[in-house]
Amino acid sequence: MEGLIFDMKRYAIHDGPGIRTTVFLKGCPLRCRWCHNPESQAGGQSMMHSVQKLDGHEFNADHTVGERITPQEVIRRVMRDRMFFDDSNGGVTFSGGEPLLQADFLIECLRLAKEAGLHTTVDTAGAVALDPEKLDKICDLTDLFLYDVKTVDPERFSTWIGKGFDHVVANLKHIAKRGNQVLARIPVIPGVNNDPESISAISRFLDELGLRYVEMLPFHRTGSDKYERLGMEWGMGDAKSLTKKDLVPLKEQMAAELPGVVFADDQRKA
Ligand code: SF4
Repeated sequence: MEGLIFDMKRYAIHDGPGIRTTVFLKGCPLRCRWCHNPESQAGGQSMMHSVQKLDGHEFNADHTVGERITPQEVIRRVMRDRMFFDDSNGGVTFSGGEPLLQADFLIECLRLAKEAGLHTTVDTAGAVALDPEKLDKICDLTDLFLYDVKTVDPERFSTWIGKGFDHVVANLKHIAKRGNQVLARIPVIPGVNNDPESISAISRFLDELGLRYVEMLPFHRTGSDKYERLGMEWGMGDAKSLTKKDLVPLKEQMAAELPGVVFADDQRKA
């Protein structure tokens, strides 16, 4: 069996507990207008255009994005940093793109990671129609889900993000009902969810699911330069990057409306 990945990041500290290696699986059914990794979206290998300068000369440095790889090779590479995982209670994170899109490959990677005694995290937006048995297998092998909650308004979802809202909700409900640990990650995006009504709606949704572990991530323009190199269009126009300070009122509102909420970034600082 082989899967398609587009990157592996060592020493990652924001993708779950401790020091981790994050494996980025290629392919995503969504088209978030602010996506920082547009090279991840296409399901097959893709070409990224770039130009390098040397001694005043410009060279074409186009490169292919996407590597076919077996689960065994993924875990072999991940295990190079075992020592750091052990010292920091870290492990491996599978991200994307959308890792659930390559469910069989993901399951095998998770199985091997658990066999090797690693803490496993799956970072997902959840917009995939999954056979419930496969989702159960993934849940059995996953210690922590980082689950994107971008908006709970189906119309906004369709305008800014794409198709698959019902799958996002159904998969998160399934995971929450099973009692898996979930960190709800909210990318705070101007025009999508940085208003009090959106925060209230998300708070109510998380409350219904019994979820209290949350992280808000400020919108930033990182990755916007990649769009031209991929022949794609950046969908956020001139929208300015947000700072952590911009999120403070939204976090205060959520703290008032979702009693018991724990913000992951505050916990890291503590
Ligand atoms: S879900 Fe993630 S990878 Fe997919 S388009 Fe949105 S931001 Fe990009």
